[in-house]
Amino acid sequence: MKIHNFSAGPAILPEEVLRKASEAVKNYQDKGLSLIEVSHRGPEFVEVMERARQLVYELSGLSPNEYEVMYLQGGASMQFYMSALNLLSNKGYAAYVDTGTWASNAIKEAKRVGRVEVVGSSADKQYTYLPDIVAPADADYLHFTSNNTIYGTQYQEFPEAKCPLVCDMSSDMFSRPFDAEKFDLIYAGAQKNIGPAGTTLVIVKKSALGKTDRDIPTMLDYKVHASKESMFNTPPVFAIYVTMLTLEWLKENGGLEWIGKINQLKKDSFYQALDRNPMFKGTVDISVRSGMNATFLLEDEGLKSHFDAMLKEAGISGLKGHRSVGGYRASMYNALPLESVHVLVDVMNQFAQKFG
Ligand SMILES: *Cc1c(COP(=O)(O)O)cnc(C)c1O
Repeated sequence: MKIHNFSAGPAILPEEVLRKASEAVKNYQDKGLSLIEVSHRGPEFVEVMERARQLVYELSGLSPNEYEVMYLQGGASMQFYMSALNLLSNKGYAAYVDTGTWASNAIKEAKRVGRVEVVGSSADKQYTYLPDIVAPADADYLHFTSNNTIYGTQYQEFPEAKCPLVCDMSSDMFSRPFDAEKFDLIYAGAQKNIGPAGTTLVIVKKSALGKTDRDIPTMLDYKVHASKESMFNTPPVFAIYVTMLTLEWLKENGGLEWIGKINQLKKDSFYQALDRNPMFKGTVDISVRSGMNATFLLEDEGLKSHFDAMLKEAGISGLKGHRSVGGYRASMYNALPLESVHVLVDVMNQFAQKFG
């Protein structure tokens, strides 16, 4: 039976990427060696790293003269601290928007580094909306989370600010066309939308670095990793290879314009069906619903076991909501085919016919 993978992360990857990745593990380019048993400084992997970085420039439209592209470890969670360490000055302060669990974690870590002002929060209503903010022009930067993976909200347009922008794009990186030049720093754990777990994409504006007057530990210093082209120490070779394959898949099929249209179709199909179906309700403000993580609840929780059984029967996997909020969450990342959304919608409709 075909499985429809709605997992929130680690998440679905294109079939073609999985096939190429498994071949590379056994015998990379017919060399009789696996990609994961050769030196990361050898020609095979150096080429992979170059291509993986190049693809980010190509997809984002950013210039290598202005921006550094790095593949680091430690997840987006490491970036909560590392971003502040590299960009938050000793005398200045950073502005943060609190729109969910990940945003709160970013705030917590930045506070270890320096002064933080929370300029907007939706904590008062369980993070079901995105707060209006007044971003101060004198902050070192404004940090926000473009897509709130757990709660299911997403910025449809990025906040405007007179200070530099920093964004955690972990769960909607390269899911739609966007103006990357607005940002001084973008980071994204690969495992939601652009690859497997094990590496984090970091894009930083060169002119933003070196301003903090702080002695930064080597492994946490963007300048170190940038100057060594993400090869200061042994990089996670397999994770970077699979990310490279995923970005190649994206590029070859038509890039962000292409995926943006497909993701919009998936989003529209799902929410239109949700709004028509009397058995379910969405959990967040309609105007900020996420195209990546659609969160919803049953009107009658008592029917949960029936709905779950129907999901299983249809081969739908990974629909369980985050453990902190419950309910359901349909994650519709780049690699999820539109067909899978149609299957889910059909099951929801059949459920309504049967139990409505
Ligand atoms: C998953 C996620 C994180 C945490 O990522 P890790 O790689 O597990 O550290 C941070 N921010 C957002 C928006 C996420 O979706």
